[in-house]
Amino acid sequence: MATQLPDNRGEVVFEDFKPAYTDAQAVTEANRCLYCLDAPCIDACPTGIDIPTFIRKIATGNVRGAAKTIFDSNIFGMSCARVCPVEVLCVGDCVYNRFDESPPIQIGKLQRYATDIAYAKGEQFYEAGPDTGKRVAVVGGGPAGLACAHRLRRFGHAVTIFEKRDVLGGLNTTGVAPYKMRADKSLEEVDWVLAIGGIEVKTGVDVGASPSLGELLADYDAVFVGIGLGPDSPLVVDGETLDGVMGAVDFIEEMKLQPSRFGGVRHAVVVGGGNTAIDAVREALGLGIPEVTMLYRGTEGGMPGYAHEWKAAKVEGARALWQRQPVGFEGADGKVTGIRCVRLDDRKQPVADSEHVVHADLVLIAIGQSRLLDQVAALEGVRADGRRIVADEAGFTGHPGLYVGGDLKNGAKEVVNAVAEGRDAAVAIDAHLSTSGQGA
Ligand SMILES: Cc1cc2nc3c(=O)[nH]c(=O)nc-3n(C[C@H](O)[C@H](O)[C@H](O)COP(=O)(O)OP(=O)(O)OC[C@H]3O[C@@H](n4cnc5c(N)ncnc54)[C@H](O)[C@@H]3O)c2cc1C
Repeated sequence: MATQLPDNRGEVVFEDFKPAYTDAQAVTEANRCLYCLDAPCIDACPTGIDIPTFIRKIATGNVRGAAKTIFDSNIFGMSCARVCPVEVLCVGDCVYNRFDESPPIQIGKLQRYATDIAYAKGEQFYEAGPDTGKRVAVVGGGPAGLACAHRLRRFGHAVTIFEKRDVLGGLNTTGVAPYKMRADKSLEEVDWVLAIGGIEVKTGVDVGASPSLGELLADYDAVFVGIGLGPDSPLVVDGETLDGVMGAVDFIEEMKLQPSRFGGVRHAVVVGGGNTAIDAVREALGLGIPEVTMLYRGTEGGMPGYAHEWKAAKVEGARALWQRQPVGFEGADGKVTGIRCVRLDDRKQPVADSEHVVHADLVLIAIGQSRLLDQVAALEGVRADGRRIVADEAGFTGHPGLYVGGDLKNGAKEVVNAVAEGRDAAVAIDAHLSTSGQGA
């Protein structure tokens, strides 16, 4: 696809927060691995990468083989090495955590070492299978859709990806914090995945508007939908349309893809206590905004964002106001100047006479993303449970030929979950197409 991003986009000011290993560091770290028989790290990885095997290969100098072991389970092994919250996945389950003396094996950094070398050498490990004559539509070009498309091509099915945006990669391109991975790295990965050949890509196509999901189901032998989540949810309070009030995911996408226009901002407030809120806080600080405050309804101990990420945000200068509920915005000349809030007690009830204004010239709302369930849920046999589309383990929805995966199915997890679900849906689609001839 070779999409060109502007060199002066906001995200380029961010440094890589986990520098890459040198050869010597990688081999030393690989040699610390105990190669556990019942390796808990494998179970902790949603894609089930054979972690001890790839680490053993690094230790013995077979870096190409290590990369192949990773990609066999996870075609997004390069980005997952950077963006996975390894602290709560593979590294968090490393048996070294049970001992006091030694830190856990840095599995993410070893994975990055092997996959980066494979990319640098232009290695390709997979080719499309013999043509089956079957056609599958993939809606959404994020990690779930791309992982599904890649695996379907390995089976020999013709695949067309329909993507609403101009860029592929989903939130890996537009949402992930730039100190973990910049957008151009995600696009490099997209090109690497598409290099299997024969995946048709149609960008700028909003499935639902045109074509409809029903049309795709009629035209193709099967359809996989991996459209993720919708836009940021609003607070629905007075003044939310003032200039300077925006959704955190929109802010992050703008910072990652376009030149920064936030240079003059003095005080940003981020509303929310999840991982998107913490990312937005750290990104606002990284862009040079002098004062960044997180405003959350609960307490520090009850926030849903990862504790290790919040700790890092505090080190970088983040402040927080706990147990606050926004009730409106203050503005002048159409621009936001502050956010009105009340204090909440431990039962999250407003405290009487506690309304006050927190000064802000940028407010980022990070209270969750809306869901894009309607079109999919309207189909016969498909069930939504409010937050997500209900499907079996392989993503089958109950509607003939229709599969889902990623955030749409799991309600919002991580890139690695989306990749696993896209891959597994492709296996299920292949099984159906092989046995039934048409759809599910
Ligand atoms: C701010 C933020 C930071 C995150 N950081 C991390 C992180 O550090 N590590 C991590 O592992 N996970 C992170 N996540 C979560 C992770 O990005 C998602 O779980 C993952 O991207 C989900 O993949 P997906 O393919 O299901 O959806 P998405 O990545 O959202 O991709 C869906 C794609 O479908 C397209 N689409 C939507 N509607 C249509 C339509 N009607 N027609 C055609 N195309 C459509 C979208 O444009 C998009 O490209 C983060 C999420 C957010 C919001």
